[in-house]
Amino acid sequence: MSAKNALRAIDMIRCAGKAAPAYRAAQHAVREAHDEYVAAQAQLHHWNDHTHAMGGADRASPAHRALLAAVQEQRGAEQKVRKAEARLQRASATAQAHRPVLNRYPTERSRRRATNVLLDRLADHPVDLIRAADLIIIQTSSGKDSTVAMHRTVAAAKAAGCLHKVRVMHCDLGSEWPGVPELARRQAERYGIPFLLVTPDGGFLGMVENRQMWPDAKRRLCTSALKRDPTGPVITTWVAELGLDRQAIVLNVLGVRGAESASRALKARLALDTRTTSANRLVLTWNIIHELSEQDVWQDIASNGLEYHPIYDTGLERLSCVYCVLAGPDWLILATRVCFALELPHPETFAALERRIGHSFKQDFTLNAIIAAARMLDALDGPITWRRGDALRRHLGQAAAAQYLATLTY
Ligand code: SF4
Repeated sequence: MSAKNALRAIDMIRCAGKAAPAYRAAQHAVREAHDEYVAAQAQLHHWNDHTHAMGGADRASPAHRALLAAVQEQRGAEQKVRKAEARLQRASATAQAHRPVLNRYPTERSRRRATNVLLDRLADHPVDLIRAADLIIIQTSSGKDSTVAMHRTVAAAKAAGCLHKVRVMHCDLGSEWPGVPELARRQAERYGIPFLLVTPDGGFLGMVENRQMWPDAKRRLCTSALKRDPTGPVITTWVAELGLDRQAIVLNVLGVRGAESASRALKARLALDTRTTSANRLVLTWNIIHELSEQDVWQDIASNGLEYHPIYDTGLERLSCVYCVLAGPDWLILATRVCFALELPHPETFAALERRIGHSFKQDFTLNAIIAAARMLDALDGPITWRRGDALRRHLGQAAAAQYLATLTY
């Protein structure tokens, strides 16, 4: 099956999956509207009889007013029945159109399984997938995984002759390490692909101030509200710019690796983004480096001379916000010591916010405690130091780092 046909089949299964519950909901709505109509009719009869028995002519009597209200109610109920029946007719036509798919995949589970098989096959053929796509968006954090995801996507797009379909976007939360948006832009420029910088209102600290609460692992509003949600309008704009008269195929590339965590290991290489997909766009999330190990990522960076953020040289293994709500105490202490060494204001800014809102950065400890621990370690061991290339020395050894540094073009 060609990539285009596989994508069409995925959308047909998606629509069939939506048609079945829509049909059931329409049947339910008709039943409800009929019940309402029957009740309104009974009420009308009751007040009709009552008004008749009372002599009927007194237009000011409460019985006459109730009769008028019952007439109104019955008219409203009649209208609801008509609307619900029209909805049922539409839903039934849609369900009928998807009958062959629904017969073949009658349950939600069977539809999901069929979709996953198709997605898995598509992920095995990235060049075909790219050829079938209309728009490829690389969402980069500028971190090492995003860097390699971008490089691999561009390589596949070049092999497919489709580099013109690729665009890069970066969400700047205002709480990351210095130089992150600039690095994202340089990385996009390296391949000559358009770059969009998105700056959500208020950023990370504004969101915390508004909510008077830090996000946490269970309520990661920082990623959902500040990173995921702004993506929808960007996709809408870019799809509109394509000016297609059919459904656009959009690949949304992320640098997610399975080895990073148990929940990420469960993610697929290619997944249907049901939140963003609609009649005019089929959006697939492409975790293009899902199977790579951390070592593979550093190897890709070294072999291809890719620019990585110097924060990795300090010993921090993630390019996150300066203070990430998912980080443990050791990581946060090291981040604080790096801030001291770089004379960054973040420790004081974050700690002041923590005091102002009266909500502890983490459930078990405050940022004040982290900063105190970092100060103590600096006093005992002296400020931390690092050299360019230390991340590569740690992961690939001295020779690989020396070679990388010697061939740097940035
Ligand atoms: S790096 Fe951490 S704090 Fe920043 S947005 Fe991501 S999860 Fe939230």
